[in-house]
Amino acid sequence: MVKRIAIFGSTGSIGVQALEVINANREMFSIEVLTCNTNDDLLVQQALEYKPNIVVIGDDKKYQKVKEALANTDIKVFAGEQALEEVAAMDVYDLMLAAIVGYAGLKPTLKAIEAGKAIALANKETLVVAGDIVMQSAVKNRVPIIPVDSEHSAIFQCLVGEMRNPIEKIILTASGGPFLGRKTNYLVNVKREHALQHPNWNMGAKISVDSATLMNKGLEMIEAKWLFNLQPDQISVLIHPQSIIHSMVQFRDGSIKAQMGLPDMKLPIQYALTFPQRIANDFPRCDFRKFNTLTFDEPDYRTFRNLTLAIEALKKGGNLPCIMNAANEIAVYAFLRNRLGFLEMTDVIEKTMGKIPFIEKPAIEDYYESDGEARHFAADLIKL
Ligand code: NAD
Ligand code: MG
Repeated sequence: MVKRIAIFGSTGSIGVQALEVINANREMFSIEVLTCNTNDDLLVQQALEYKPNIVVIGDDKKYQKVKEALANTDIKVFAGEQALEEVAAMDVYDLMLAAIVGYAGLKPTLKAIEAGKAIALANKETLVVAGDIVMQSAVKNRVPIIPVDSEHSAIFQCLVGEMRNPIEKIILTASGGPFLGRKTNYLVNVKREHALQHPNWNMGAKISVDSATLMNKGLEMIEAKWLFNLQPDQISVLIHPQSIIHSMVQFRDGSIKAQMGLPDMKLPIQYALTFPQRIANDFPRCDFRKFNTLTFDEPDYRTFRNLTLAIEALKKGGNLPCIMNAANEIAVYAFLRNRLGFLEMTDVIEKTMGKIPFIEKPAIEDYYESDGEARHFAADLIKL
């Protein structure tokens, strides 16, 4: 049976790689929905190639341009934030690849879950902001949420066949990013171009900065809590610079399972699209003779304080991860525009977390409100 796919965020790093996976397996999939925020040229190019039913451009100023470029096709064109949510609920596809970056991915993903769509989840911020509500809705609507994030895909793969075996703990591996081993005297001067040079992965700008600050690993701890129903003390982080072990699960008998391979997002993307099947591909294989030293280390929590803040948010719960995420998005935005220093990002996040009122059991509206308040407060701090 052909799976009908919607890619929300098709012009991004994950979206483009997902289209490569799908292109190599055209008989298994049909592309029904493609969306992006502002990159109309790439969206149009993708639409002409994959002939989806619908495209959505988030930025409504670009609607006319996309509409004209697709005038000779029967592809429907929509624009704006509201359209993203409406299309997410439409009965034109089976599986959403949630590959929008940041908080903007939350509402369309929630709508897709409510409409009973399977979710391949790249957008970790969705679970960081409102993991309890998202997971409850997935259970209620009997919707599978299959992780795309490589660490969570690794854990998910380790758990196949282990339904009845409780997890003792998980070990999330982290490359350490481009500034592994650096101290604050170095970090104080780093700029956008340094932070965007990740040693092992080629990713979108926001997640690249998050990887450089280790906030990405903090977001992933919170993502793991919701995906695998874990307590904070069951989630640990281990620096593993070679990125060959993508993460591990330790069971109650002490046995540890790891999932390994070369760092290539196309593998977890493919697995999420074809689960429970594994299908053949021609991706490069891991030759352990070339990786004869796998090393492991403790993260430097004192230097990379974003990770420490994220652990605080993970432990305290409520709306604190949502507040932290919003402040982080603003701080990363400012850093990428050279309006904020690398270490100052942490100060903005910490101050915002201390300022916005804590809510222990937020409703979805509380999350929306906390997100807005945190963004305002953080932007004021930076004078954006
Ligand atoms: P990216 O910046 O390359 O692409 C983001 C996509 O989202 C683009 O298509 C963009 O048009 C769209 N988008 C951005 N803002 C939007 C908005 N306000 N409204 C609607 N659409 C919007 O990002 P990416 O690196 O592909 O990451 C996407 C998600 O996947 C992130 O949540 C990231 O954490 C996660 N992820 C990425 C990787 C990776 O290797 N890139 C790995 C693991 C997880
Ligand atoms: Mg990851």
